[in-house]
Amino acid sequence: MASFLSARAERVSAARRDVEARGETFYQGPSGVHLAAFPPKERWDDWVEVGSRAWPRQAEHHYMLVPTTCFNCESACGLLAYVDRDDLHVRKFEGNPEHPGSRGRNCAKGPSTINQVTDPDRILYPLRRVGKRGSGQWERVSWDDALDAIAARIRAAIIEERHNEIMVSIGRPGEDGFTERVLASWGVDGHNSHTNVCSSGGRTGYQFWMGTDRPSPDHANAEVIYLISSHLETGHYFNPHAQRIIEARANGAKVIVLDTRLSNTATHADYWLSPQPGSEAAINLAIARHLIVTGRYNREFVRQWWNWEEYLQTCRPELPLEFASFEAELAMLYDEFTFAYAAAESGIDAATLEEVAETVAGAGTRFSSHCWRSAAASNLGGWQVSRTLVLISALLGSIGTEGGLFANSWNKFVPKPIHTPPHPRVWQELTWPLEYPLAQNEMSFLLPDFLKEGRGKLDTYFIRVYNPVWTNPDGLSWMEVLTDEEMVGCFVALTPTWSESAYLADYVLPMGHSSERHDTHSYEQYDGQWIGFRQPVLRAARERLGEKITDSRQVNPGEVWEENEWWIELSWRIDPDGSLGIRKYHESRANPGEKLSVDEYYGWMFENSVPGLPERAAEEGLTPLEFMRRYGAFEIAKGLGAQYTFEVPAEELADVNVTPLGRVYTFTPKPANPNIVPMGAPAPDDDGRRPVGVDVDGVVRRGFPTPSGKLEFYSSTLATWGWPEHALPGYIKSHVHPDALAPDQLVLLSTFRLPTQVHTRSANSKWLDELAHTNPVWIHPTDARRLGVDHTGDLVRVQTDIGHFVAKAWITEGIRPGVVACSHHMGRWRTADQQGRAGGMMATVDLQHDGDDWTMQRIDSVRPYASSDPDTRRIWWSDTGVHQNLTFPVHPDPISGMHCWHQAVRVVPAGPQDRAGDIAVDTSKAREVYAEWMKLTRPAGLASPQGMRRPTWLMRPLKPSAEAFLVQGS
Ligand code: SF4
Repeated sequence: MASFLSARAERVSAARRDVEARGETFYQGPSGVHLAAFPPKERWDDWVEVGSRAWPRQAEHHYMLVPTTCFNCESACGLLAYVDRDDLHVRKFEGNPEHPGSRGRNCAKGPSTINQVTDPDRILYPLRRVGKRGSGQWERVSWDDALDAIAARIRAAIIEERHNEIMVSIGRPGEDGFTERVLASWGVDGHNSHTNVCSSGGRTGYQFWMGTDRPSPDHANAEVIYLISSHLETGHYFNPHAQRIIEARANGAKVIVLDTRLSNTATHADYWLSPQPGSEAAINLAIARHLIVTGRYNREFVRQWWNWEEYLQTCRPELPLEFASFEAELAMLYDEFTFAYAAAESGIDAATLEEVAETVAGAGTRFSSHCWRSAAASNLGGWQVSRTLVLISALLGSIGTEGGLFANSWNKFVPKPIHTPPHPRVWQELTWPLEYPLAQNEMSFLLPDFLKEGRGKLDTYFIRVYNPVWTNPDGLSWMEVLTDEEMVGCFVALTPTWSESAYLADYVLPMGHSSERHDTHSYEQYDGQWIGFRQPVLRAARERLGEKITDSRQVNPGEVWEENEWWIELSWRIDPDGSLGIRKYHESRANPGEKLSVDEYYGWMFENSVPGLPERAAEEGLTPLEFMRRYGAFEIAKGLGAQYTFEVPAEELADVNVTPLGRVYTFTPKPANPNIVPMGAPAPDDDGRRPVGVDVDGVVRRGFPTPSGKLEFYSSTLATWGWPEHALPGYIKSHVHPDALAPDQLVLLSTFRLPTQVHTRSANSKWLDELAHTNPVWIHPTDARRLGVDHTGDLVRVQTDIGHFVAKAWITEGIRPGVVACSHHMGRWRTADQQGRAGGMMATVDLQHDGDDWTMQRIDSVRPYASSDPDTRRIWWSDTGVHQNLTFPVHPDPISGMHCWHQAVRVVPAGPQDRAGDIAVDTSKAREVYAEWMKLTRPAGLASPQGMRRPTWLMRPLKPSAEAFLVQGS
């Protein structure tokens, strides 16, 4: 640990000396980075800038700088709102140098928050549908009326034990666990995250190895960085990781990027490998084999930390239970994965693969890597891409090392909230069906199919930061169920902006943007832990001036509310007298019987659950809540190191048992720990035992939160839950493997995004729309010639299994021959009777259907228009791309549950009737494809281990009680 810290300190000092030699200074706050021009925090109450428009006159503007957190992607970077002291309006957003993760830096989407706040098309008042669903007829409704109507439905459902008819679908989460706790307080298992159309594939590979579902790579200190996908520009923890990768490169690190498409990241790589889509795991295994056969793996690490004994005992019981037997076995297991084999699968020549493998071998324990979305989210068996990537780290021993790979649970901090309701006693089969016992997350994208099959119905369905019609595959099936009041009784959209889904809602309720709501955040972005605070910045500004604000609506535009206050209010109205046992989880502790305020909620959390924060705040004469309102973030710890190696203290070993393979466990419940959220804590295993640690060479260490306590090269979970053939890291051939394609089919790669757009919300940022507003189909010149596509800009028709879309072609060598690509963040639309335009991004379409046959034709492009923002008259573009996801059937991976996004398509020049943005879909064909993929599953049942629906140790965002896990308990 000491050498780890001193090496880092040395590097920082060297950089500091360079900067100081130039007569400049480092920022003194937690970021510690060189931001010479950044406002020092001592001047945040009255920061003066000279307005550019008055030039050459020096017109001073006085600002109060108030921190909050960006909400435009998962990274949760710090922002500083520049609040004009003259009129208390927010003028702009810049980075917050007090934020340890983002360190004052943002991508383009951070400062563009100002566009979302001032968007002339945003929704400012609660609305209720008055015509048919989707007809575009609305009336303003008071918050009271909307809340009373919705609360009455939920109350009735709970009293009538129809708990499973209430569901909340989540897009971008706000605060870790907030919505889950609201639902738990209602006794409802209704949390439905979007994760299975996003990152489940990647998570699954990490989960089966490490017991945690996300990596935390120490990119900044790595010598070799191996990325599957475009992590510098659009990957996971985009800006916080990108800046650390750039630092590493400046220090000489080599960057290897596997991405079929020439992403911005690939242009910065030392090695850009453009593999045949789906072959990434074969490349990883060839590299792993190279490490094994050349003996350049970390033998001692493998001996100590892999569960090789369990593998031998279960799979090769005839061999002596010795490490030498395992090493001999390991040398044979991956025999097939030669560079020649990987070259044949990937199309990348064997010599290049060998050179890359040599580079990886040279990194030793300074090998950082990351796989997120991308290949893991695109292919049948894509989860093996991240599992085989961890195999490389696990061979090198680069786990928890400087420049290596950490587990997210070591670097992420989730504070305990003021109230924690018990686990619901019901199991929601619409999200966690028996067919997918190992699904990483809720089977959210199958909801329309399940509703159509009559597996259940929804009385009240919420969406928040989620646009299911647009985001999911087969969006027109979503339209079919969301417009059917038999299947979805009441549909509520909590949203700041209009969307393809909000148009179909019964209530559209305006929620705040990132500067208008509260949340806490903590993400794994380096070897340290921080907590960030999102807040309504005008509330904080006015409180600095002495005002008392009690409700975010007092400072937000129109009647925009924040979600936390709204959920508390809704819960009170569901249980006004407390007789249902709900209200107590939303009551004040300080004043029992009164409603919990967000001030008390966060004040309690920061005072009682964040180690070191009260002391740090006291140094400045502030309460912990005042500190967070002033600075927006707090670094709890850094340099945490390899936590799996930490020895378990003797007092925890008083009442333990040890399995023959060294797992140390107890039946004694864990003592209450104020800093751990019970619902997120490591679960007892399927036998009800609580793991304490693992015996390694006679010392009990913390280990990993896996069944064995070690890194699981062999997954007993996969083996015992029906998938023994995939229990080891391996290669599953994709559904778009060349063997599965017809001669005239290409692979469509649809999972990438452009760095300046992110799903629905960013379309309401005019700056971002001007930067990127269309999504042409990338096509290699050889394919273009063969298919008769002569020029960039020519229209092509892309035929999927259920329909087609029409888009412009972009002929480029930045994509592999045989593969086409189209970004998924464009093609927004509305019908002519809908309001709101999502800035300059929503085309007007004619959407028709005859039974299951749907067609969409563009009737008007984006054009300049008059609004309160003069810039809407200056829109110079008209092409906003195509909504390709509508034409994709669902492809649920039978193990991870991830939707496998890649499509086998035929591309032809568009016909004379085709127009850019046209769509045709047959939803009956979509149901056929769904049925085919369902046949791949191996459902849980009474014969499952302990008769359960799902292994208890696997994560679940909202975990029901133990009895709900039993199949017969349904
Ligand atoms: S990476 Fe960009 S969009 Fe994401 S949180 Fe940071 S500033 Fe916002």
